Parts: sequence; C-alpha cells; structure tokens
Amino acid sequence: MKHDQLILELQSIVGEEHVSTSADDRAKYGQDALKEIALPEVVVWPRTADEIAAVMRLANRDRIPVTPRAGGVGYTGGAVPLHGGILLSVTRMNRILEIDEPNLVAIAEPGVITADFQRAVEAKGLFFPPDPSSLEESMLGGNIAENAGGPRCVKYGVTGAYVLGMTFVTATGEIVKAGGRTTKNVVGFDLTSLMVGSEGMLGIATDITFRLLPLPEANRTVSVIFATARTAAACVTAIMANRIIPAKLELIDGFSLRAVADYTGEPLPENAGALLLIEVDGSPGEVEREAREVERICREIGAIEIVVAETAEESERLWSVRRKMSPAVGRLRPRKLNQDVVVPRTRIPDLLEIVDEISARLDLLIPCFDTPVTAICTST
Ligand SMILES: Cc1cc2nc3c(=O)[nH]c(=O)nc-3n(C[C@H](O)[C@H](O)[C@H](O)COP(=O)(O)OP(=O)(O)OC[C@H]3O[C@@H](n4cnc5c(N)ncnc54)[C@H](O)[C@@H]3O)c2cc1C
Repeated sequence: MKHDQLILELQSIVGEEHVSTSADDRAKYGQDALKEIALPEVVVWPRTADEIAAVMRLANRDRIPVTPRAGGVGYTGGAVPLHGGILLSVTRMNRILEIDEPNLVAIAEPGVITADFQRAVEAKGLFFPPDPSSLEESMLGGNIAENAGGPRCVKYGVTGAYVLGMTFVTATGEIVKAGGRTTKNVVGFDLTSLMVGSEGMLGIATDITFRLLPLPEANRTVSVIFATARTAAACVTAIMANRIIPAKLELIDGFSLRAVADYTGEPLPENAGALLLIEVDGSPGEVEREAREVERICREIGAIEIVVAETAEESERLWSVRRKMSPAVGRLRPRKLNQDVVVPRTRIPDLLEIVDEISARLDLLIPCFDTPVTAICTST
C-alpha cells in the first residue's frame, strides 16, 4: 500500500491529530530503554478497542507490521518497531474504568501509569503489589506484556499473579474477552495467562481486570550494610529460615552501591560491600515484631550499619537508592546491557561469585542488584 493511502486510512480510523509521521515522533517511538533504534513508518494513538481492531484489520490486509507500545521503558526491545510499519501507542487509553471495592477487583486501560493505578486503589484501602522500579513511567499494558515485578515479588509475586482477565485485539482485528473478574474462572482455555508475558506478539490488551488485596495496615523498612554481598545473601537465607517473608527485598552489591554514592554524593561506610533493603508489612504488631527480628538476624550475621525507618518519608529515602541504580550505573559507561538472572535464593552467593569471575576474566564491569530472586547483572 502506498504510504499516503496508509496515512489517510489511519487518520480516518483514529482522527487526523492522532497519526504522526514527524521525524521527532518516529525517533521518540523508535526505541525503548534497551536503546536499540528502529524507526516506525507512522505512529498512531488509538482511543478504543474498536479503533485498534480497525487498525489491525487494515495492517493485516496489507501485511504491515504493528508494534504496540505503552510507557516505552521496557528493557526487552519489545516496543521497538524492528520491522518498521505502524507503532501503536496506547497512551491515550489511560482511564481506570472501575474499582470494585467489595470484590477486590479493578479494571483499567493499558495506558494507565503503574504508580497512578497503585495510588488510586490505595486511596480506597486496597493494594496492587507489582512494583517495577520504573513504576512512575511504565504502564499497565507494558507490565502485563512483560509480566513485570519488583522488590515486592518475593512475598507477592509478579504482575501475572494479579491479572484475572482482559479484552484484547488479535492480529487479524478480532476483539476477544479472556478470563473474567473472579478468581475461580477456570472454564476453557486460559488465554489470559497466554497473553501475560507475550510482549505484544499475541494481541493488544485494551482493558485489563486486576485482582487486588487489602492494603497492609503498616510497613517498615530496614536498610543494612554488609562488608560483602555474600554475607548479605546469607542474611536473606537466614531471614527466610526464621519464617519471615519480607514484603520487599533488595540486595545491591558494593560496586552498584558506590556508583549510587558517587551519583548522589551521599557518603558510605568505608568497608561497605553490599546493601540489603528489607521491608516487612502486616498489622502494626506483626511489623514491629518482624522488624526487630530482622534487625537481630542482620546484627548476628555481621551487619556494619543498620537503619530502621521510623516514618514513611524515611522509608522512601532508603528505597530511593534502588531507583537511582540504573541512572547511576548507566553514567559509568555509554552503553549498558541489562540481564535478568534468576536463581534459587540459596544459590545467590554462587551467582555473585560466578559474576565476579566472569567480570575479572572478560575485564567487564558487572554490577549486580535486584530482589534476591533475580539479579540484574549489568554489563557496562
Ligand atoms: C529504570 C528502570 C527500572 C526498571 N525496573 C524494572 C523492575 O524492577 N522490574 C521489571 O519487571 N521491569 C523493570 N523495568 C523494565 C520495564 O519498566 C518493565 O518491563 C515495564 O513493564 C515496561 O512497561 P512499559 O509500559 O514501558 O512497556 P513498553 O516498553 O512500552 O512495552 C513493553 C512490551 O509490552 C508490549 N505492550 C505494550 N502495551 C501493550 C498492550 N496494550 N498489549 C499487549 N502488549 C503491549 C510492547 O509491545 C512490548 O513488547 C525497568 C525499566 C527501567 C527503565
């Protein structure tokens, strides 16, 4: 199909102002956080499932590649239009359609920013645990398509654990309803699970039904510095062995820690070799008991410094270290490759040792950080 004809047809579907071929838009929508660049021929911003279905029928008829995109901060390159064609942005589909408090369910469009969704349900005393560190920029569509998870996944699991159903549009332009709004919705093929983690390759989600939890009454963050990452990892095992499942857990190696300290200008203890961030949540009594227990275990294992947050602001400040990790490490080299490595918790010390060995052998900087179920080893 001729380019001009394609643009006219797309304009007739989504409106003239929601189609762009400008060099700026094509460049902006030609990459995600991976920084691989491939320019789309055109960017479209549909508003409804029907509009997406019409775009997909047009693209299917003329064999034009379509790449869906939400917040554009994925690290897999999934939102990069490698084959050109149409870049379909869901940013205009940004409404929370329903928060059903008695049934602990919410329905939202894929362009809702993750943190906005969390804040909206929390305002009603409910809880949406998945917390990728990109949550102020990433969107629900990208979260389900990448099955994103953050520090809370140790206790609460990743995004897929909260998706009850969704409406999606197939490559041929059909609108499909998968799943439902109840937990026991087990009849038929589980298309919802198939869509979760499919990186936009099986269909485009147009609304998503999420399961919610009651918001924990209290939480507390404990920040602990150790001399080595191995000791910090041993501490994680000891905490779990004492039957405490932290709500959030993050192990940051010494290299990453120093990178953040250089970036923020905040001083570190001289022999700091790793940081463990631990958050416990539950009823106020439970939180008090678990925080004290965590402190005791960390001290016994050889912590150099322990800070227990007394306020929400203090807790936020402690966790901000994690959010600064990516830019701090990225500053050290012009090119950075993120790799998620997943090992059983008890093998984290071995993983860190192997990473050190590879780092020395190949003369590569490999900072390691992330929850102690995955480690992001960033080769720079
Ligand atoms: C600083 C930083 C920290 C990060 N921390 C974490 C972390 O802690 N945990 C983690 O898991 N990830 C993390 N990420 C990666 C990333 O933020 C997540 O993968 C997030 O889910 C991407 O969301 P997005 O809205 O940016 O999606 P995009 O990058 O826009 O898209 C991601 C994929 O989803 C597809 N997609 C988008 N919308 C739809 C839709 N409506 N239907 C179907 N497919 C769709 C796209 O085609 C693409 O394949 C981080 C990224 C950055 C930059």
